[in-house]
Amino acid sequence: MYLHRVEVHGFKSFADRQRFEFVPGMTAVVGPNGSGKSNVSDAIRWALGEQSGRAIRARKTEDVIFAGSERRRALGLAEVTLVLDNSERWMPVDFAEVAVTRRAYRSGESEYLINGAKVRLLDVQELFRKAQVGQNSYAMMSQGLVDEVLALRPHERRELIEEAADVHRHRLELTRAERQLTETRDNLGHVRILIREVEPRLRQLERQSARAERYRTLAAELLGVLQVYYEHELRGADDALTAARARHDQHARAFSAVEQELASLAGRLETADRTAAERRARLEQLQADERARTEEQLRLQQQVALAEQRAELLAERQGEVEAEIATTPEVAADASDAPEARLAALDADAAAA
Ligand code: ATP
Repeated sequence: MYLHRVEVHGFKSFADRQRFEFVPGMTAVVGPNGSGKSNVSDAIRWALGEQSGRAIRARKTEDVIFAGSERRRALGLAEVTLVLDNSERWMPVDFAEVAVTRRAYRSGESEYLINGAKVRLLDVQELFRKAQVGQNSYAMMSQGLVDEVLALRPHERRELIEEAADVHRHRLELTRAERQLTETRDNLGHVRILIREVEPRLRQLERQSARAERYRTLAAELLGVLQVYYEHELRGADDALTAARARHDQHARAFSAVEQELASLAGRLETADRTAAERRARLEQLQADERARTEEQLRLQQQVALAEQRAELLAERQGEVEAEIATTPEVAADASDAPEARLAALDADAAAA
């Protein structure tokens, strides 16, 4: 049971808001002639998007709006809402209840709403088409139609009954299924042809597959062997690395000792350089002193030589003087007390020289 209720307001004879609840089972609308029973089914047809005026007994849009009565003024708007149960999601919208509303204004304007949101007529038709509720999947048996049905020719009656029993939809599905079956048979034929074409290639592919399988096996074996080989190589490289590290440590220690020794030698060399420089300076000093002494010695030797010359000259002079004194008595008498003093003076001169 999909139709929960129909809400009508301002549609034809329904001036007041009216609610029709539909519960499981059969629902009957009972009333005297002309009380507006058919207006209920018209309202449902209209809300489902009916475009034929004849089907809902209205020549123009305005005819569906309450036209007023002796006691009530006419209304400006007709509105019908169908509230449908969608808890099983038979309609492609994510609501448990779907309200489809159609409105008509005296201006001729129409509006459609799905759960209060404005949509186009096309959207309403699309919703029911996707939900497989269309004009071909339900049957409206309006007043007087039963008589018409009885008067129909057998094949026309059959069409009508089939439509009411929703056979049309099943027939469409059957046609679709038959078409799909035919297509599948065609496809099967194509597949058989393809298999025949492919069969010769199949043996080649089998050989290739065997070769590929052999390749995979050999590749796996190779991988295993390579793993063993590289593990062995790795162990050897590890050992070599350890030995190299030990040698490196040893060399590093020796290098460090040599460095220390070198530093010590550099210190000693520096001291030796300093000592050599001092000694060189001292040597230069001594050489300068020696040169000065040599010069002094030469100067003294020259003075001694000069003094000796003067002494010789004085000795000669003394001889001459003594000879003169001896030959001259007055001078000798004057000089009798002086010879000693004069001699002493001459000696002093000679010593000084
Ligand atoms: P019956 O079984 O005798 O055919 P019914 O109960 O099915 O009658 P309807 O034909 O549905 O009655 O209703 C017809 C009533 O609706 C009439 O009284 C008519 O005046 C009223 N009606 C139709 N259109 C409008 C409208 N636009 N405004 C007001 N009343 C309207």
